[in-house]
Amino acid sequence: MSDSSNSAINWDKLTEEATNLLSDYLRVDTINPPGNETRAAKWFGKILDTEGIEYEMYGPTESRQSLVAKLDGDGSRGDGLILLNHTDVVPFEREHWTKEPMGGEVSNGFIWGRGAIDMKGMGIIELITFLLHKRHNLPLKRDLIFMAIADEEAGSSFGVEYFDREHPELLECAYVINEGGCGTSEILGHDRPTFNIGVSEKGPFWVTLKTIGTPGHGSVPTTDNAAVKLVSALEKISNWNRPIIQTPEVVEYFQQLHDHGILEEPPSPEYLEKLAEGNPRLKSLQTNSISLTTVNAGVKMNVIPASASATLDCRLVPGYDREKFMTELEEIINDPDVEITREFESSTPPSRMDTELYEIMVAAAKEAVEDSIVLPSVSTGFTDSRVFRRRGTPAYGFVPFLLGDQEVGRGHGNDECVSIENIKLGMQVLHKTVRNICG
Ligand SMILES: [Zn+2]
Repeated sequence: MSDSSNSAINWDKLTEEATNLLSDYLRVDTINPPGNETRAAKWFGKILDTEGIEYEMYGPTESRQSLVAKLDGDGSRGDGLILLNHTDVVPFEREHWTKEPMGGEVSNGFIWGRGAIDMKGMGIIELITFLLHKRHNLPLKRDLIFMAIADEEAGSSFGVEYFDREHPELLECAYVINEGGCGTSEILGHDRPTFNIGVSEKGPFWVTLKTIGTPGHGSVPTTDNAAVKLVSALEKISNWNRPIIQTPEVVEYFQQLHDHGILEEPPSPEYLEKLAEGNPRLKSLQTNSISLTTVNAGVKMNVIPASASATLDCRLVPGYDREKFMTELEEIINDPDVEITREFESSTPPSRMDTELYEIMVAAAKEAVEDSIVLPSVSTGFTDSRVFRRRGTPAYGFVPFLLGDQEVGRGHGNDECVSIENIKLGMQVLHKTVRNICG
């Protein structure tokens, strides 16, 4: 069934349609902050209207709405599949772009604009497979849900966290496909197409450090200068040598890389530690990482500041006990004058790798690209998948693009773009996946 439905589709024509849609969608201003994702929800709504598909909008305020549309299945294969995509994008620095960041330019085989990779491109390929089901009246044995959601880039409190609080019934499903695992055309220096299926992610643990001291004239140094206290705490943190922690998912990732001949040695702790030395991303996957992100103190050159503060973006390896980390942090700072405030934190269990959907994604990717590798991956960043995972629902990061040199690292970067070829590949792999799990 899935094969005949796939071959009846004119993929070239659809690629053209998807390219035009993405180009247009990139021009919808959903920069977060402030978000204004209702613009995107309405943009999708207009398309669904034309196709005769009903939808609902949900959100805590008028400007932060998300869209949910559902095609009913007969339920014979169980609960639904959610195709999840966030509609907001991060800001950009126009002066560092050679293209108009919100222009949606299509040139040299690429579609350019903020959000092309993160994640409006994926939103469009999810939309296309959703529309194909309606247009061709493809049989569904479970519900297929399209969810275009606000506020992923700023903590999701207006998006999926709002759904979790106010409309938890909307999150009930068997599986979720989301961002958080994207393919690349090469892997660790080998020209080998590699798809990633995100199964787990590090947990954010964001804190503010604050110190208070006696302010005064710069000509008379005080003994409790707030800035000095802060600097001393930051120095201890930057000298803190945290151990390597290898979670099962990370070890599995490297084991498979070894099985495919990409890594010479099997993933012994010593070997992985060695790999991490020259590679910040591989290191982050194996440690509780800490980035000092902001420092604030002082108002004038000759005034001793009354207070000082800094923010730390800590990311804990999946499953690490947050209370334990907090205690460790307090012990390292070892100064009761440094106030530590927990601003944002989250941790979730991984999604299982032994599910039917996982197997189907692997098969669909391998079938589409001969000689490709499909790996379970752990993301250093976090996504909306965390909310589903903490509810016990398997959520996978599966963006079936194979990003090349031109595209890698452009999400959140300058001159973000995605190739038209990737849009075509992504549509085909995702559609195949959806047919095989829903059909
Ligand atoms: Zn994203």
